[in-house]
Amino acid sequence: MKRFSGKVVFVTGAGRGIGKSVSTAFAEEEARVCLVDIEEESLSITVNELKEKGHEVRGFAADISNPEKVNEVVDQVAELFGKIDILVNNAGVLRDNILFKMSDSDWDTVMNVHLKGTFNCSRAIQKYMVKHHFGRIINISSTSALGNRGQANYSTAKAGLQGFTKTLAIELGAFGITVNAVAPGFIETDMTKATAERMGLSFGDLVKYSVSQIPVGRSGQPEDIANAVLFFAMDESSFVNGQVLYVAGGPKN
Ligand code: NAP
Repeated sequence: MKRFSGKVVFVTGAGRGIGKSVSTAFAEEEARVCLVDIEEESLSITVNELKEKGHEVRGFAADISNPEKVNEVVDQVAELFGKIDILVNNAGVLRDNILFKMSDSDWDTVMNVHLKGTFNCSRAIQKYMVKHHFGRIINISSTSALGNRGQANYSTAKAGLQGFTKTLAIELGAFGITVNAVAPGFIETDMTKATAERMGLSFGDLVKYSVSQIPVGRSGQPEDIANAVLFFAMDESSFVNGQVLYVAGGPKN
């Protein structure tokens, strides 16, 4: 028996980056993992990779900002596995720009994916958790919640997720459900690669600059975030509720 044997896990934005690493970590601990992503190609590559290793995983293509689609996928998963124990709200996008250049669409897209998407998934899945009197919801915030130039939309959404986390922790605690957030610092993924490109830097130079600001002297890897997510998801973490854990190689960066 491994730590998550028999648990059903629902991970959004699971095709690549942090979501892929979180899904892999749960699968390696014998959980049954449902990977959800808007991007079908990376989703099917990741799902096949995990299946080839003998893990019990399923892929679902969905835009989490669409409530009807989310309800449909969640009901399908609950029908398939009889329950959903753990939800990781990880899917995210960037539409960075300095305030006066930020378009309505830059603002709305970021709010729709991070806030509306997390709301859609949490609302749809909590009813199955309440029914079984067990649940773990883990939201992926960011150090940008503390403020970051060029990210008025993203930092607002990531700070909003922290309020959402604390409120659900209060509302759902009585049903055996804990709700916590992980706030990553600089993590090497396609998202930070795209940031380097937008800044006109090589990825190597962006990593080098970021590392110079990080007390532990290295940049973060998706596995660093997966480890923190698994901590909140463990049965033994049932008294840890409404917390935000910064995983950034230092107090913040
Ligand atoms: P990533 O490599 O860009 O992966 C994010 C995944 O989410 C992509 O496959 C993306 O698909 C998918 N996605 C986007 N919108 C979606 C939607 N509406 N419905 C379903 N899936 C959607 O990003 P990452 O670096 O792994 O980041 C994962 C999470 O960590 C995000 O919430 C991010 O804000 C947060 N985070 C990352 C860092 C970092 O340094 N990397 C730091 C702090 C916080 P598309 O490619 O098609 O958009």
